[in-house]
Amino acid sequence: MVYQNPDGVRIGLEVHVQLNKLNTKLFCGCSTKYHDSEPNTHVCPVCLGLPGSLPVINEKAVEYAMKIGLALNCSIVEQTQFHRKNYYYPDLPKGFQTTQYDFPIAGEGKIVIEGEDGERVIGITRAHIEEDPGRLQHIGSIDKSKGTLINYNRSGMTLIEIVSEPDMRSPKEARRYLDKLRSILDYLDVFDGDLEGAMRVDANVSVFMGERVEVKNISSFKGAERALLYEIMRQKNHIRRGGEITLETRHFDEARGVTLSMRTKETENDYRYFPEPDLVPLRVADRVPEILKTLPELPDAKRERFVKEYGIIDMHARAAVTDQDIADLFETVTLGENVSPNNAAVWVIDILKGELNYRDVIIRVTKTEKREIESQNQCKWPLYKSMTLKLYRKKYVDTVPEIESGNIIKTIQLVKEKKITEQSGVEIIRTMLDNGGKPQDIVKEKGLLKVADDIVATAVEEAIAENPEAVTDFHAGKEKSMNFLVGKVMQKTKGRADAREAREKLITKLNE
Ligand code: ZN
Ligand code: MN
Repeated sequence: MVYQNPDGVRIGLEVHVQLNKLNTKLFCGCSTKYHDSEPNTHVCPVCLGLPGSLPVINEKAVEYAMKIGLALNCSIVEQTQFHRKNYYYPDLPKGFQTTQYDFPIAGEGKIVIEGEDGERVIGITRAHIEEDPGRLQHIGSIDKSKGTLINYNRSGMTLIEIVSEPDMRSPKEARRYLDKLRSILDYLDVFDGDLEGAMRVDANVSVFMGERVEVKNISSFKGAERALLYEIMRQKNHIRRGGEITLETRHFDEARGVTLSMRTKETENDYRYFPEPDLVPLRVADRVPEILKTLPELPDAKRERFVKEYGIIDMHARAAVTDQDIADLFETVTLGENVSPNNAAVWVIDILKGELNYRDVIIRVTKTEKREIESQNQCKWPLYKSMTLKLYRKKYVDTVPEIESGNIIKTIQLVKEKKITEQSGVEIIRTMLDNGGKPQDIVKEKGLLKVADDIVATAVEEAIAENPEAVTDFHAGKEKSMNFLVGKVMQKTKGRADAREAREKLITKLNE
């Protein structure tokens, strides 16, 4: 099935990623750990842009930028250079943003996403380094604000701006692109995406090959999808009424779910770019081999390896690799005795990950025990014999006790040994997520041990004897009567029988 894109939608995204895992800002020694601090406490003459102050480049920031460029399959420029982008705004006291212009650190690259009609390559135009401005806090909404406060803690933080080609054809594809980008950046360990302002999205949208409209300052991925849906609708309606779409910048009002016109778009000339005289050009090409060695196994490669090495289905592999910690947990659980890769996939990816999503929490590996035997193919990523994980709400607040990989293995083993039913296994996982504990103890506390075979057999005989009508219905081919009989067996065994086994026993008995 080929996606037709009836409205000729073209979406390109510009994503600003704040490298908040660096210890210091881009051009000064100020700490980046300002997120829980009072306003204007993480500042110095450089990041306040005071006259006479001079920037010094943060080497680690350049390395992180190269890492990101390489992970996005970009070419790395021979020599990079900073420019001044001149404009005045209260959050930018210098009157210019130090950014990159004609020599961005990373050139063309690509990201592969799951598109409307299968796999799809989204082009990356460029990725460059720039400084974050300060933050304006409007009192009330932006268009009716009585006053604005300025916080310069953010000023001078390292941003990587990643610009895509207008290759996305629907808000859904844009969302998939953002999810994939986030996943890759998480793997690189260059930022904490849950901190405020870690990823900011601007979108270019056009329909019917018309002029593009820029939608600014989208603060969440969900917001991006909503803003795009609204903007496409608005443009289509405008054209239908005989209007014309002109180049402009619009602001997304998250609360109202609409985009509002801000200004007509500046052209590049308005910014009067010129080379930053206080920073020398940087030769970066020589360091590519060294940076390449620091790249972890990335989601696409991991997915391919999971399918090949473990023989799990692509859907499982795809779901596992979106989160590195889930992927690591999956691999650790496969090491459990009597646990097949497929068992591990079902319990870690379908069941555990499903429960995490339902609770809107994430899981992070906190402790690991190295695996004794390294993988046969000598991979450079770590593999673990066991691990401990903690659950976090989005903002890193502990909510429950730790989860041990060994306890997940134990749960799977109990099910495989037929000591408990699959349903009880799920109940154990849920209990561990809510209150912690060990599977064996939870089995005892909740009385989850499966009843013995002969008790099920007796329950089956009783169910048949006590419900002649249902038996007649069964023989008449009425399928519902079987569910009724299974229900009776479950009732008699207080839910401790395996429903599937009960069904099999009933069918055998009824066909005797
Ligand atoms: Zn500073
Ligand atoms: Mn920018």
